[in-house]
Amino acid sequence: MTYDHILIRYGELGLKGKNQKQFLKTLVNNIRRQVEREIGDRPEVVREQGRLSIPLNGRNPADFYPALDRVFGISTYSPVMSTDLDPATIEAAVLAELGQLPATDQTFRVTVRRANKRFPIRSMDFQLQVAEKILAHFPQLSPNLTDYDLEVSIDIRFEQAHIFFERRPGLGGLPLGTGGRAQLLLSGGIDSPVAGWLMMRRGVVVEGIHFHSYPYTSKQAEEKVLHLAEKMAAYSGHFDVHLVPFTPIQEAIGANCHSNLRITLMRRIMLRIAEELADLRHAKALVTGDNIGQVASQTIESLYAINEVTTMPVFRPLLTYDKLDTVKIAKAIDTYDISVLPYEDCCTVFVPKEPKTKPKRRECHREEARIEGLDDLMQVAIQNTETVRCFANGSQAARRSKLMDLLKEKDEQDG
Ligand code: ATP
Ligand code: MG
Repeated sequence: MTYDHILIRYGELGLKGKNQKQFLKTLVNNIRRQVEREIGDRPEVVREQGRLSIPLNGRNPADFYPALDRVFGISTYSPVMSTDLDPATIEAAVLAELGQLPATDQTFRVTVRRANKRFPIRSMDFQLQVAEKILAHFPQLSPNLTDYDLEVSIDIRFEQAHIFFERRPGLGGLPLGTGGRAQLLLSGGIDSPVAGWLMMRRGVVVEGIHFHSYPYTSKQAEEKVLHLAEKMAAYSGHFDVHLVPFTPIQEAIGANCHSNLRITLMRRIMLRIAEELADLRHAKALVTGDNIGQVASQTIESLYAINEVTTMPVFRPLLTYDKLDTVKIAKAIDTYDISVLPYEDCCTVFVPKEPKTKPKRRECHREEARIEGLDDLMQVAIQNTETVRCFANGSQAARRSKLMDLLKEKDEQDG
């Protein structure tokens, strides 16, 4: 007996009434694309009552796991074997599969669901019957209905019985592409990639904006950000990063403004530029890795002063996270080892000795007014922004200064 399909459950989507069709369509497409990336061809994905299934056609189910583990919207999935609706055949299949397990002491339970009431044995009775067979064959297994290591699940359907032994956890969330678009302020740190990933898990298509201070910061610092983008691309296929040259603006801040407000001013200007870029990319929200109270720029007072410059929603999914929780996700999505590489970013280069922890909006206005031609500096930064499309396999697609095209496109729309 071998596994013949993978059953995919998508819990949360069940709630979405009218939109469910679109959501399912997106989920199916995303599964097919991820599997294609993993094994080379697009599988059939069959829609069943409230679930999906992938026929294995002789393939090993484990071939599909890495792909399924990158698809948002899957709650759990199971490799399933199908048998005829014959009690003896079902029992034989269960025993054969359990025979493959290492002989360690384990607790187990049998769960039977009988959608097909014409199956001759009632669920509870069949559960007991199968459990007794298991006990007779495997002395290392002991039954426990509530606290079990192993669940033997038997679904009695109309044509066949489905048997499975594990429910592998999926990522949960919503299918990527069902939640609109956002621009992530992507630094090289631990937090922002995690923040972006959490938004992606809610179905939001995310692109990155990175402000760099070349030549104060190295090309390695930039490579680091692009490597982070590759890790994100594992979940989305590709991940675009807009590289904004920030040096002239930082120099202007350094030359004109009080040093203890530098970080606040930088953040305000970053948000302004990010909003314009978001607009050009038809994104309706910004995302940051901010977290209350971590550093001076992230006190509530500071966020208040910084956030003033935009009316776009700014999502901060890590706002309430403990660092350890963030690190855990960073490790799970494989960004952590990259984030901790020691290349300086633009903020560490220009960091003041004593940043204000409670900057006032009024002070920000006063200091910004000292930078002559700030608007022009911002426009130049936007025009010189380069976009790099990053792929999970490490290929970085052509670096393009596509922004000029987008600006043209926008002018045409406006005009
Ligand atoms: P991270 O680990 O994401 O760098 P952090 O805890 O180090 O976050 P800060 O460095 O204060 O915090 O940055 C706060 C947020 O501002 C970042 O999470 C990111 O969203 C944004 N940000 C900071 N520097 C940059 C940059 N150079 N380019 C783009 N966004 C940035
Ligand atoms: Mg940082």
